[in-house]
Amino acid sequence: MAEVEFRSVGKTFPNGHRALWELNLTIADGELLVVVGPSGCGKSTLLRLLAGLEEIGEGEIRIDGRLANPLTPQQRNVAMVFQDYALYPNMTVRENLAFPLQMRKLDKTAVARRVADTAAMLELGELLERYPRQLSGGQRQRVAMGRALVREPSVFLMDEPLSNLDAKLRVQVRSEIAELQKRLGTTMVYVTHDQVEAMTLGRRIAVLHQGRLQQVADPQQLYDRPATPFVAGFIGNPPMNLVRGMLIRGEDGSAAVTWGNQPIALPADRLPPGLVRGETTWGVRPEALVLSESGQLRGVVRLVEYLGHETLVHLVPEASSADAALIVRAGGLCRARPGDCLGLQVPEEAIVVFAV
Ligand code: ATP
Repeated sequence: MAEVEFRSVGKTFPNGHRALWELNLTIADGELLVVVGPSGCGKSTLLRLLAGLEEIGEGEIRIDGRLANPLTPQQRNVAMVFQDYALYPNMTVRENLAFPLQMRKLDKTAVARRVADTAAMLELGELLERYPRQLSGGQRQRVAMGRALVREPSVFLMDEPLSNLDAKLRVQVRSEIAELQKRLGTTMVYVTHDQVEAMTLGRRIAVLHQGRLQQVADPQQLYDRPATPFVAGFIGNPPMNLVRGMLIRGEDGSAAVTWGNQPIALPADRLPPGLVRGETTWGVRPEALVLSESGQLRGVVRLVEYLGHETLVHLVPEASSADAALIVRAGGLCRARPGDCLGLQVPEEAIVVFAV
């Protein structure tokens, strides 16, 4: 078990590509941290730096307080489970599990005991004499986990471990992994590009974009209070509405943001520090918006997407040339039509104003 710390970690590849910038992140001992972001954002690079498979360019990584930069992958006692599981095809499950221990020159009895314990923990007992080709995708995944576990690593790294499984199995194995991690109490860093997977797994989630850490928070905070427009657009489906508007301040300190030329008042304490007035980006979740004649805004329906259980209504501000459509998540019974002029209620507590 170990705490992991990234201190101002950066990575530039020899071809000049900068994959990580100034990464500061602490993963508590025994924590499951999910790292999420789109393809190419630097997730695997982060894991590979921690595992010692890639040289740390700038900054420090500490594992349990100990500087990891000069340590080899073996010395770090970190185990990684890859997308493709990387099992040895010509070895049985038992041999696959035993191999990392034999490499460490453990005696035969200790190897047999640890293999038996791990097999029992992952319910692999029946499969020990099979070869990887004789296993289902989910079973192969469990063996790969077992092979990482058997070494009793202090940190467990998972690089998109479920991407080769079908959707149903993914849900099942995901909850098994979360359960196992809790039971073992081993620090785990779990990488995925899938925001739904991150949200369902994550006690704490780190969002990466173009090599930069955007936010580290629990699922609810990420959803309700995204720190950047990128997080707002990445988490949730449909994503948070993002509107380019103006921030207006009254003499009395009151504040409002605009949608087209219509103001929406909001408490001044909701503004990010340092943001005074002028152009801004603000956001609101589609499900927070309510179509209501008593709403403070008026919009014209541009598009209606009827999905059965719900209807997505796209509204543009009335009497404005601004192209700032808001998507409203309305019920399946909503009968709005393109061209209708409707009232729209925007609860002020649902508005997020971004500093950029
Ligand atoms: P994916 O979800 O597609 O696996 P990722 O978020 O894990 O993506 P990384 O593999 O960390 O992304 O790559 C981050 C960026 O660094 C990408 O733009 C990638 O092309 C680049 N990159 C990765 N490895 C190298 C390398 N050895 N040399 C040069 N560029 C690299």
